Amino acid sequence: MLITNVTTPSSNGAPVSVRIEGDLVTEIGAGLVARNGESVIDGNGGLLTESLVETHAHLDKAYLAELIPNPTGDLMGAITSMIANRHVMTVENTIERGGCPHLDDDAVMANAELVNLAGDLGVPLDLHADEHTDAHRTSLQNLAERVISTGFEHGVTASHCVSLGMQDVDTQRATAEKLSEAGIGVVALPHTNLFLQGRDMQSAMPRGLTAVKHLRDAGVRVAAGSDNLQDPFNPIGRGDPLEAAGLMILTAHLLPEEAFASVSTVAREVVGARAAGPSVGAVADLMLTAAASVREMIAVGGPRSFVMRRGVVVHRH
Ligand SMILES: [Zn+2]
Repeated sequence: MLITNVTTPSSNGAPVSVRIEGDLVTEIGAGLVARNGESVIDGNGGLLTESLVETHAHLDKAYLAELIPNPTGDLMGAITSMIANRHVMTVENTIERGGCPHLDDDAVMANAELVNLAGDLGVPLDLHADEHTDAHRTSLQNLAERVISTGFEHGVTASHCVSLGMQDVDTQRATAEKLSEAGIGVVALPHTNLFLQGRDMQSAMPRGLTAVKHLRDAGVRVAAGSDNLQDPFNPIGRGDPLEAAGLMILTAHLLPEEAFASVSTVAREVVGARAAGPSVGAVADLMLTAAASVREMIAVGGPRSFVMRRGVVVHRH
């Protein structure tokens, strides 16, 4: 397959063609000619990038906002109403996964149990960590030390990590170094944490984000996710990772290209997926938008002309 007349983030505005064979990008150039029988997609001058990766979404709760209202709007209001209304969700459409140390009375013990359990099962671990603004109640450093001491090798992701954003700079840096040493990826969830956290601090209200800068400075992979979608934990959201990328620009001060990476390249690394995008040898997980730049793509959040997964078009607009 040949995709013609597109720009890519590295083509400096010049139109190129991209050849895909099997599930890989095999050639990129200005003068590529379609082979006999090769299918061709005209990109109409659009921007071809790697496709997006959702690292953290509660699909089991999506669109419950009317069915299960959150009376107080905060985190415990959402959790309490979910528990009280559990009976309105059928077993068939509810699949609960993962651990949640921040809701455990003993987060350190929860870390130990969950790391051991994932080790026994041989599966990666993704924990809801520190989803609160109490700077004195964090279990992240302990999680990193446990991963290092046990040699856990299946991959660990710590999601939210809001408490880390509330701690002093030295603690942020020390924890970030430990997370980096342990190879733990972090997922920031600006949507839900902006909505839920900081309600009790009306002066100098915190953003409810993790310590994105110091994590990145220490070499930690920081991805961004959508988290909740129109449910008791977040009444809005369109389920588009470009929304999370936009919030990472506004609230974590990432540059547009860095924000895009947080929902594509870095997100792929965090979930253990192969490298993808419009570069030779990469997996052909691609998407085409009408934007002239990555910044414009995030700002507009417009439709994707097509989305391709492993060389196969799975969506057209
Ligand atoms: Zn979550």
